[in-house]
This record gives sequence, C-alpha cells and structure tokens, in this order.
Amino acid sequence: MNKHEMGTIPDWLDPTPWLAITREADSARVAAAIAANDSSEARLATLLSPAARQPIFLEKMARKAQALTRRHFGNTIALYVPLYLSNYCTGGCAYCGFASDRSQPRAKLSWQELEEELLAIKALGFEDILLLTGERHKEARFDYLLKSVQETAKHFHNVTTETYALSVGEYRQLTDAGCTGMTIYQETFDPVLYEKMHRWGEKRVYKWRIEAPARALEGGFRTVGLGALLGLGDPMFDLISLFRHVRFLQKHYWRAGISVSFPRICHQTGDWKAKHFVDERQLAQIIFAFRLCLPETPLTLSTREEPAFRDGIAGLGINRMSIASKTTVGGYRHDAETGGQFDIQDPRSIEAFCNMLRAKGLEPIFKNWEAVYRDGEPALL
Ligand code: SF4
Repeated sequence: MNKHEMGTIPDWLDPTPWLAITREADSARVAAAIAANDSSEARLATLLSPAARQPIFLEKMARKAQALTRRHFGNTIALYVPLYLSNYCTGGCAYCGFASDRSQPRAKLSWQELEEELLAIKALGFEDILLLTGERHKEARFDYLLKSVQETAKHFHNVTTETYALSVGEYRQLTDAGCTGMTIYQETFDPVLYEKMHRWGEKRVYKWRIEAPARALEGGFRTVGLGALLGLGDPMFDLISLFRHVRFLQKHYWRAGISVSFPRICHQTGDWKAKHFVDERQLAQIIFAFRLCLPETPLTLSTREEPAFRDGIAGLGINRMSIASKTTVGGYRHDAETGGQFDIQDPRSIEAFCNMLRAKGLEPIFKNWEAVYRDGEPALL
C-alpha cells in the first residue's frame, strides 16, 4: 500500500454487522453464548454486551475463562519487562505523554546506558524484554533501534519491540538482528476518530499501521501482539474489529503466534481524559469474552492496572503480565529524570508479585523461548 494513504476500515475488519447484537442481547442469548464453544463475531458481540455484565454471567464467564486458560497455558503466567530506549517523538497522539507538544525532558539511552539498563534488568531475572521508542525521530532513527536490538539480543533470549510501524525490509533487518516479535496497538479502529486523535506524524496513516503486523510477519517475526487503547473510541467497535484482526492474522499466518493486550488509557503528561471510560468490571468482562472466543491465544495485561485487579484476573484469562516496569528512559538503574509515557498503577517488586502468583497456585515463567532458535543467531553473552 501507499504509506501516505489515509484509511477507511477494510471489509475484513469492519465490525458494523455485529454492533446491533451487543445492543440487543438479552439474558437468554448471553447464557447461550457462554455455553457455546465457537469463535464467531456474533458470540463475542453477545459476551461483550451490557446484558452479559450482570454478576451472574460475569461469574460464569470467569469460571469458563479460568478453565480454558488452565487447559491451554497450564498454571503459568509468563513475565516480561518493557525498556524505553528513547522518548523523543515526532508524533502528535492526543492521549500520550510523549507527544511532541508535551513538555517533558527528552532522552535516549547511550550505548553505555543501554548496556547498564540491560544488565540491571537481567539481574532481576527477566529473559523476555520489550524495547519501546517514540515515533521516528532524528535522535532515534531506525539504525538506533536496529543496533539496540542487536545489543539486547546479546543478553536476552526473547527480544520484542513496540515502536512505530516499519516496512517489511526494516522488520527483516530486526529479525536478522535477533528480534522475534512486535507489539503494535491500532489504538482505535474507527478511521475518523483515528485521524482526529493522531494530530500529526507518521502514525496518522491508519492503513500503514493496520497492515504493520502482517508486514512484521512477512519480515520474519515469529509473534505479533495486537490491542486497542480502551477508552479512546466505542469499545464495541474497537473490540470486534480487534477480534477480526486477530482471526485474520491467525488464518493467513497460521504459523505465527498472535497475542492480545488490553491497555486502558492511564493518566499521563497532558492529562487527556478517556471519552469512553472502561471500568474494571467491563475490563474483566472483555478479558473473559476474549478468552472464551480465543481459547488458545495468549492474553496480556500490563502494570497499567491496579494490583488488586491484576491479582484477581491472573489466570482468569490472562496468561502473560509485565511487572517491575518503568515507562521512563533509564529508569532501571536509578530514578530517571524524564517523565514516563503514562503512570504505572502496579509498582510492586518482582518478588512481591511472584509471591502473590504462587499463593494463587500460579507459576511465574521468566523464560519460554530459547535464543538458539533465532535466525542468524547472535551468541548470548
Ligand atoms: S503514542 Fe507513540 S507515536 Fe504517539 S505520541 Fe506517544 S510515543 Fe509518540
């Protein structure tokens, strides 16, 4: 596609035919959807409906979500950690503390600082690391990201990225450097709202972003993580589109691992408020609905959420979580001087978090991928 082409929602993502189901669902349809076993849009729409938010249905969905999670992922919770390489950004996303019109100190890690951050994170026990940057910027171009991946792959078995959308050729270079996966949130699938929220910058190009996960898989990535920023647009529109995106990729790239995250808008520099606020009860419903309709798909929850909610939902659909996260640049060695992308809600240590998991009968997993399986494997230090 043309990188500069603005978007309309493609037919294979359009949730419109199922939106009425969420409005019209009643108790009988919700009960039938919980009892069913298919992965259809109609079932998901029913499980996401206001009618399904009644305590009696949430309880039934939670039980089924827990049983499915246990069946497909055992009693494990895979742990990962984010590392912000740079908070320079040319983007103008209305909801983000790193937008170029937000005043806060900007920085990127020098090679020495990156090495120190990696060693500090490694000492915490992590083997699964997610590297993040802002939008493409002269201070942190693609060659900076590429070298950061190369350096990180010397220390960690699983290296993934959450950055701006890249071309197939750029994803291929990251694969060759040791990167195995990427996360990219469409934020909202509503193209009109998308244009309004992304006031300037490369991210403004809706289709270029929607097609990024497929480009990453074409470029040799093994996994992609998808999500919508809950609170930005109509949750029903975004969640059914997100589900369709997952199913599309699972069908066309059946060897790849597709995962889903559920980020809610958090407080950030700029103090942008969610227009379609999703509360914890609805967030739990969303996670249960996705687990019921995507039983084998990894579902991720970050430290954006409060400890009590995370403790309750671990293993009830969610099987992958971050902990001990910093959203500042350079925050693992000492308190960084830059502000974070958003405010973290769960500041617990790894030890406290793992103790909680074990008390619930869950096993924290720090490594579930061996670097020796990478293409063009760089040796671990
Ligand atoms: S969401 Fe990403 S591209 Fe947008 S302002 Fe924040 S860091 Fe920049």
